[in-house]
This record gives sequence, structure tokens and C-alpha cells, in this order.
Amino acid sequence: MMPLSHLMWALPAALLYFLITQEVYSSFAFLLTAVFIDIDHVLDYILAYGKFDIKYFLRGRWFKKKLYVIFHSYELVLILLFVYFQTNNSLVLAIALGITYHFITDMVYYKSELKKKILFYSLIYRMSQKFEKKVFCSG
Ligand SMILES: [Zn+2]
Repeated sequence: MMPLSHLMWALPAALLYFLITQEVYSSFAFLLTAVFIDIDHVLDYILAYGKFDIKYFLRGRWFKKKLYVIFHSYELVLILLFVYFQTNNSLVLAIALGITYHFITDMVYYKSELKKKILFYSLIYRMSQKFEKKVFCSG
């Protein structure tokens, strides 16, 4: 899903987050992470093509054979939740929830088998599959 689509999905969710928490900074953190967690596609793009070309990148052709997307990870969310429960820092919770919201919108948007969608967001599982794109994508 492209950043503008993520923004359109994340804006009402961030507003709802604000209405529930009354926390401006946390709501903004939720919004930013729900949209910009895709920044990890830049790393995948550079690893795939050995350079960064903004025009080609914006066409959404980020992957050749490997899907690293290191921030698309349940494990990252679990680490953030652990940190939140240790520190009670509401920004950390907002970031964990923003990332989770991003996963949900990705899962709704991308058409593939549900089991593949669920497994895809495990960094450990992707690692066990050697980050092979063909495990998760047919095209
Ligand atoms: Zn994504």
C-alpha cells in the first residue's frame, strides 16, 4: 500500500486514538508510525538494486527476490510492548499500536492467502524462509 493510502487509513484511526487518550503527542506518534513504518522498504530497495532511485522507488517496485522489511515485525511490536510495560511510556504504546494498525491495513489491502498474510509479519518466520519473496507473493 502506498504512503498516501496509509495516511488516509491512519488519519481517522489517529483521531480516534486522540479522542480515547486525549494525548496529542501519542496520537501523532500513532499516525506517523502507522504511515511511515514502510520506511524499511527503502532498505529493501537499496539491497535489491544497489542504489536508490526515487522515481523507480515511488512506482512501488521495491522487491526483487527478498522481502526483509525489518520493521514489519510482530517481534518489534512485542519488544515495544515489553518496553511500555516496563516504563509506562504512552509514546511507546502509541508506536506499538501504530505499527499494529499498519499491519492490519496492509493485510486488508494485500490479496493473498490469510495464513501467508499472518505469517508474513513475523520476522523470525521470514528469516526461517530466508526472506524469499516467492514464499509470500505469487507475482
Ligand atoms: Zn507496510
